[in-house]
Amino acid sequence: MSTALPQSTDIIVVGGGNAAFCAALAAAEQGISVLLLERAPEDEAGGNSRFTAGAFRCVYDGVEDLRALMPDLTDEEVGNSDFGTYTEEKFFDDMGRVTEYRTDPDLCEVLIKQSKATMLWMRDKGVRFMPIWGRQAYKIGGKFKFWGGLTVEAVGGGPGLVEALTKIARKNNVAVAYGARAIGLIADDDGVKGVRVKHNGHTVEVRCKGVVLAAGGFQANTEMRTRYLGPGWELAKIRGTRFNTGDAINMALAIGAMPTGNWSGGHAVAWDRNAPETGDLTVGDNFQKHSYPWGIMINANGERFLDEGSDFRNYTYAKNGRIILMQPKQFCYQVFDNKIIPMLRDEYRIKRVTKIRANTLEELCAKMEDVNAEKALATIKEYNKAVMTEVPFDPNMKDGRGTRGLAIPKSNWANTVDEPPFEAYAVTCGLTFTFGGLKIDTSARVLDTEGLAIPGLYATGELVGGIFYFNYPGGTGLMNGAVFGKIAGTNAGQRAKQSP
Ligand SMILES: Cc1cc2nc3c(=O)[nH]c(=O)nc-3n(C[C@H](O)[C@H](O)[C@H](O)COP(=O)(O)OP(=O)(O)OC[C@H]3O[C@@H](n4cnc5c(N)ncnc54)[C@H](O)[C@@H]3O)c2cc1C
Repeated sequence: MSTALPQSTDIIVVGGGNAAFCAALAAAEQGISVLLLERAPEDEAGGNSRFTAGAFRCVYDGVEDLRALMPDLTDEEVGNSDFGTYTEEKFFDDMGRVTEYRTDPDLCEVLIKQSKATMLWMRDKGVRFMPIWGRQAYKIGGKFKFWGGLTVEAVGGGPGLVEALTKIARKNNVAVAYGARAIGLIADDDGVKGVRVKHNGHTVEVRCKGVVLAAGGFQANTEMRTRYLGPGWELAKIRGTRFNTGDAINMALAIGAMPTGNWSGGHAVAWDRNAPETGDLTVGDNFQKHSYPWGIMINANGERFLDEGSDFRNYTYAKNGRIILMQPKQFCYQVFDNKIIPMLRDEYRIKRVTKIRANTLEELCAKMEDVNAEKALATIKEYNKAVMTEVPFDPNMKDGRGTRGLAIPKSNWANTVDEPPFEAYAVTCGLTFTFGGLKIDTSARVLDTEGLAIPGLYATGELVGGIFYFNYPGGTGLMNGAVFGKIAGTNAGQRAKQSP
């Protein structure tokens, strides 16, 4: 149920995803009034957060940390699992490596060092978590072995997370207005004093003592993504919400906020070629096709174009969308044989999938729409000959089972494609979110172009720049929004409490 808009409140949070709710809950802890503005109608609310699998990348030093976070874990479940650890050092290594050491060191440090405490805070608020048995663990010798540093998800995935946060926010007296689009900040030399809102067709002003911006990136704005990401990006599909059109970034820039980060970069993955232009909540993230490290990818020219096995899926999937977009006709096929088909992730078995199946490689290549079949067949045969079959295949580690002598090598998990039946899945680029955004400090205050904090203005989540460049370790988006959401809400709330 949507709240009516008041004329004034202490804190306004702009956005209705994970980052916004974490900010609203932290602000409400200060005993002040909080209004959350969600642009989407209630049935489409929750932003990209609702489209996620709810995976959170957080530090844990051993199974006791996981037990504290997930008190429902049984002794049997713990006994059946090898969770390993995900230490601060490993998280730092991952962030450094995948962002090519561009990540803002101060913000990155806060993200990593606060991740465990923020998860426990969310748990205390009532969000429930569980291990990602399905997607992030393989059963070896009767035990689930977790890999890639991503171990925890919210119960019910993204939809479960948003539902839980919404209920908890209401219980904590956060007023939630749906269909309420922030269109401008009211500000003067003393800082931010309110928000102009379009609500039910009317523009109104709501006065406040502080604003937290958490309204997502600009990926769903065709003009902005072509302007900043570059030519061709208007042709990408949007994996998530249609409402993240850069509004809050533009509102902040209009009052002097500093843009920062990888404005030409974004998180983009392999996504069904025939998926709709923006996300569909009934399918969620299942248009993604993430089993490519076990197979090969072939473009319209019939050629391989990247090393599918250069690293674990978690560390390559977010940059591959861009490479696929740059291929002729902006797509490719992912090709697998009978050895791998049973291992494919669940998303390969949904109804709305662009898939072909054949009993011979010749038939498969002939069926690949828009592909040079002759060249594709030659590529697969050449690849098969190059596979180091003497090295055993092991999906749990970078197994070093590569190829020999190919211009584009495959470094790990190189399996021959020679056992029928064969399957090929057509994928294009699905853009998840953009990396460029507003500059904040470690207190989540928005800085202006002079480097000074804009009084009363805070930001968190996707619209913050400077944290992700080129690539991203899976599960960091939700963690990032939660960590800085909690900080932003706490600081905005404390400031509001002290203001007359
Ligand atoms: C398919 C998919 C799967 C993903 N899986 C994962 C995962 O498992 N783990 C992970 O960490 N990350 C994942 N991500 C990335 C993750 O979704 C984002 O990093 C994260 O949700 C961003 O949270 P946010 O709160 O900043 O933005 P969002 O959740 O997108 O929220 C932004 C909100 O702002 C609202 N809004 C926009 N403009 C306005 C306006 N003018 N006024 C008011 N409200 C406005 C929107 O309606 C929306 O509610 C995934 C993304 C997608 C699309």
